[in-house]
Amino acid sequence: AKETGKGRCVVYSQGHSGPPQHDISLEAAMFQAVREGEFLLYYQPIVDAQTREIQGFETLMRWKHPTLGMVPPARFIPIAETNGLINLLGAWALKAACVQLKQFEEVAKRPLYISVNISPRQFRNDKFLDVLDDAIAFSGLLGEQLVLEITEGTLMIDPVHAESILSKMTERKARIAIDDFGTGYSSLAYLKRFPISVLKIDRAFIRDLPGSQKDGAICNAVLDLAKHLDLSVVAEGVETVEQLQYLEQRGCQYIQGYLTGKPMAANVALAALKESMHR
Ligand code: C2E
Ligand code: CA
Ligand code: CA
Ligand code: CA
Repeated sequence: AKETGKGRCVVYSQGHSGPPQHDISLEAAMFQAVREGEFLLYYQPIVDAQTREIQGFETLMRWKHPTLGMVPPARFIPIAETNGLINLLGAWALKAACVQLKQFEEVAKRPLYISVNISPRQFRNDKFLDVLDDAIAFSGLLGEQLVLEITEGTLMIDPVHAESILSKMTERKARIAIDDFGTGYSSLAYLKRFPISVLKIDRAFIRDLPGSQKDGAICNAVLDLAKHLDLSVVAEGVETVEQLQYLEQRGCQYIQGYLTGKPMAANVALAALKESMHR
């Protein structure tokens, strides 16, 4: 396996590299996709709710299959999680995203950060800290420019192990974000126990704002909690100006959603950064 450090994940195999067969399972297709370099990374802006300035990007994996087209991560990540391919794909994504951030910064001429999803299996893998160190060293990023997104579930599988990994992540100054906050099965006690910096409010709580009283109450409670615990909040899946205004008025600092930027290829993200400099 070879990480090109940029752009695509390529695994070289001896000989065989025939045309894609019909009716092969998605899983078999995935191994082929890794060899053929069909995986790529998209980047979605995370913006300041007040100024709308891009602060960072979330890295989102894409699989561009020659005949199936774009296979959504909701379909292939669970398979990769089951067969372990996520360790290879995740390591590639982390390194490539760090390298990409350097290029984004050169264009933006200011510090930005990169947020990368870490799956439960990746998080538990023995090699994970080596992978993290390699990505930071290879890219020359500062640890503080890296946000690692994990879910409540990842923490709860083995909290003792999680605590030790998280403390090693924070030794490297990487920040920890809780993804899909509020949707997992866990108690709030983990916010006290673990060194968490960011809460990402799941789109499920944003979608029906500002109309839904219940979702409003949940968002307010999260924002209040975050304020008192000194955590940052990113609202996910913001699609309308009304949602943005509602959240911004209640002190939500960061927004991520189709309203302020869809996930995009690196060159499109670069163009967006260039354009924002001339505003
Ligand atoms: P996630 O981490 O919660 O990522 C946010 C998802 O919401 C992304 O879906 C994004 O495209 C979508 N989204 C963002 N803004 C909006 C919006 O305004 N409206 C709507 N309707 N959707 C929005 P995507 O890219 O399909 O990814 C789905 C999930 O797959 C991710 O959910 C994450 O759990 C997983 N995933 C994606 N890339 C990676 C990766 O590199 N590694 C791992 N482990 N998981 C990944
Ligand atoms: Ca995420
Ligand atoms: Ca999320
Ligand atoms: Ca989600």
